[in-house]
Amino acid sequence: IIEVSGLHKAFGKLQVLKGIDMSVRRGEVVCIIGPSGSGKSTLLRCVNLLEEPNSGTVLVNGFEMTDPDVDIDKARRMIGMVFQGFNLFGHLSVLDNLTIAQRKVLKRDAAEATAIARENLRKVGLEEKASSMPSQLSGGQQQRAAIARALSMQPAVMLFDEPTSALDPELVGDVLGVMRQLADEGMTMLVVTHEMQFAREVADKVLFMDGGVVVEEGPPAQVIGDPRHERTQTFLHRVL
Ligand code: ATP
Ligand code: MG
Repeated sequence: IIEVSGLHKAFGKLQVLKGIDMSVRRGEVVCIIGPSGSGKSTLLRCVNLLEEPNSGTVLVNGFEMTDPDVDIDKARRMIGMVFQGFNLFGHLSVLDNLTIAQRKVLKRDAAEATAIARENLRKVGLEEKASSMPSQLSGGQQQRAAIARALSMQPAVMLFDEPTSALDPELVGDVLGVMRQLADEGMTMLVVTHEMQFAREVADKVLFMDGGVVVEEGPPAQVIGDPRHERTQTFLHRVL
């Protein structure tokens, strides 16, 4: 459902992605691990064209994101994204955060948008926080609300960029729990994470990136449990 081939991206003279080929099948969870600066976020941002690649192609759910003629707003609607920071609209209640794009972008009426929003708040365990303001929530609750907001757009795939790395340790588990549940429900997910336990247990496939290339990929038991490449081994020694 996601197919990236020959992807290159540079910022000025800095080559950040040096020919990435990767794919995610429908219903799969793919985790990307790798050191800081290896290009993980840039890859994710190229998938939904928040960054424009210099060359290569990105296909998502049959849309060629990199085709200059593609309706990019329409194509992006298939993709939900959750970042490290929580990015909720601070001046809107949790419920309004979940309904605004449904109403403005998908043109859903208030009743339908609210029903879908409440269903997703229930899913992430925040039913009773619908009328709270984001500032009244913990970091973990805000991140779960951000996930519920992305889900309310009913995307075909979800991208996560280190969704738990800004959280206090005791709040990480709740967010990972929600992500695990989504994976169990069959959501297609591409997840940049430093949570090796999560990657081991939930991922169908793990990619190790370093220096703008995919160094190694395979099932978690191989890439994390028994890595073949020295760079992967060195990285895992540092984080595990
Ligand atoms: P981290 O684990 O720290 O999040 P990352 O693997 O996500 O790292 P990227 O954010 O993709 O790494 O960055 C890769 C490289 O590209 C870095 O050297 C970074 O400084 C550079 N970079 C990223 N975005 C930009 C930008 N908008 N302009 C210039 N350089 C950028
Ligand atoms: Mg990053």
